[in-house]
Amino acid sequence: MPTLLLSDIHANLVALEAVLADADGQYDRVWFLGDLVGYGPQPNECVERLRALEPLALSGNHDWAVLDKLDAFDFNAEARMVVHWTQRTLTADNRAYLNDLPPLRAEPPFTLAHASPRHPVWEYILDLPTAMENFAHFDTPCCLVGHTHVPAVFVLDEAAGELSFTLVEHGDVIDLSRHRLIVNPGGVGQPRDGDPRAAYALLDAEAMTLEFRRVAYDVAATQELMRELNMPRRLIKRLAQGL
Ligand code: ZN
Repeated sequence: MPTLLLSDIHANLVALEAVLADADGQYDRVWFLGDLVGYGPQPNECVERLRALEPLALSGNHDWAVLDKLDAFDFNAEARMVVHWTQRTLTADNRAYLNDLPPLRAEPPFTLAHASPRHPVWEYILDLPTAMENFAHFDTPCCLVGHTHVPAVFVLDEAAGELSFTLVEHGDVIDLSRHRLIVNPGGVGQPRDGDPRAAYALLDAEAMTLEFRRVAYDVAATQELMRELNMPRRLIKRLAQGL
């Protein structure tokens, strides 16, 4: 049975429920690459929903900011505003759950990192030079990352000394057995590749394949909850644009 691979839920329960419904019956365990809260309107609901799935989970930079492990002044004003609201809203129990999650862990043949294996909380892997440097910072064949909210694959052909980068679409299946890779399943709760549908992946660790998926969710429902909470307008708008 495949592993359901999720990242960057960002307190968007409507998107998380759509992903869980879409993948229903097709996985037997869950891996989560961090940023369960921040940006979105339902942090407690998302922590509780994910927790109940008993995932192998990481924490991300927004989780760290909410936990005061990272200075919220590193964020833009809108993200910071939601960090502070989340701090006031999160229950002690849910906060304790987030506090126990590491930002990096090895699950051979995979390394899991929120942002990058070199700087697991903060670095964005968006270009070839950054990806190349990061291949020196993990030992397993494949590293799974989130953080950019953009589904993508970096493939390092060590024999040829070539690194390539591919943006991926719904239904694309990649072979994880041939080269070393850095793979990003995209974001569940705030996609940023211009496609507003929630992104996730199904990882088959036996066949060593990974399938990228997209699923539409009721964006307007999440936006309405954000409006009721007077969340920043730009954060509300970007969900519909997938940016
Ligand atoms: Zn994120």
